Amino acid sequence: MRIVLVGPPGAGKGTQAQFIASELTIPRISTGDIFRYNVTHNTELGRKAREFMERGDLVPDEVTIAMVRDRLAEDDAQDGFLLDGFPRNVPQAETLKKMLAEWETRLTIVLELVVDEDEVVRRLSGRRTCRRCERVWHLLYDPPPRDGICGDCGGELFQRDDDSEDTVRHRLEVYQDQTAPLIAFYADEGILVGIDATGPVEDVTSRALATLRPYVR
Ligand code: ADP
Ligand code: AMP
Repeated sequence: MRIVLVGPPGAGKGTQAQFIASELTIPRISTGDIFRYNVTHNTELGRKAREFMERGDLVPDEVTIAMVRDRLAEDDAQDGFLLDGFPRNVPQAETLKKMLAEWETRLTIVLELVVDEDEVVRRLSGRRTCRRCERVWHLLYDPPPRDGICGDCGGELFQRDDDSEDTVRHRLEVYQDQTAPLIAFYADEGILVGIDATGPVEDVTSRALATLRPYVR
C-alpha cells in the first residue's frame, strides 16, 4: 500500500503513522523527521533546510523532492510506504504522481486527519518529542511516564523550536495557503478519505485502520 497522511501541523500524523506503519508493515517516511535528523547532524541537507524550518516555512521543493526521490528508491519502500508530511503543496503532489508513474505505480489512498484549529494549537503547545526514537508525547493528552524521559526508549524529550507560539501561527497559515489545496487535488483524483482525528489516540488509530484495511492487498 502506498499511503499519504495529510492534515494540519499537530493533527496527529506522526502519532498515527507509527501505529499504522507497524500494523501494515510498511516504512513510515516522515520528511520532517528526516530534515530534523539532518539539522541535528549538521549535514549539507540540514544546512539547506534549517533556516526555512526555523521560520516555519516550507523547505524549497527542489531540496525536498530530491530527498524524497532518494528515500522512495530504497529497497524497503518498493512494496509500499506511508508518507507523513509529504507532499506539502500541489507541485510536490504533481511531482510525486509523475515519480510513481515512472516506477509504474501510484498512490493507493490519501488519508486526511480532520481536526479543528483550536485543538491543533492545544496539541502543538504540549508536544514533546524523543531525541532518540522520535516518538511524540503530549504533556496532558499522552504524558510520558517519567518527566522529560521517553517511556518507549528512555531517550531525552525536547520541545521543537518550531512549536513556539509565533511559529505555530505561521505554520498554520502556511498550511492553509499551500497544503490545504491538496485536499481538493486528491479529492479530484478520487483517492481522498477523511477521518475524524479527535478523541483518544487509540480511537483515531482504529478509525484509520478500519478505513485502510479494505485497500490492503
Ligand atoms: P503532526 O505529526 O500531525 O504534526 P503529532 O503526531 O506530532 O502531529 O501530534 C501533535 C501532538 O498532539 C503530540 O503531542 C501528540 O502527542 C498529540 N496528539 C496526537 N494525537 C492526539 C489525540 N488523538 N488526542 C490528543 N492529543 C494527540
Ligand atoms: P513536520 O515535522 O512535518 O511538522 O515538518 C517540520 C518542518 O519541516 C516544516 O515546517 C518544514 O519546514 C519542513 N518540511 C517537512 N516536510 C516538508 C515538505 N514536504 N516540504 C517542505 N518542507 C517540509
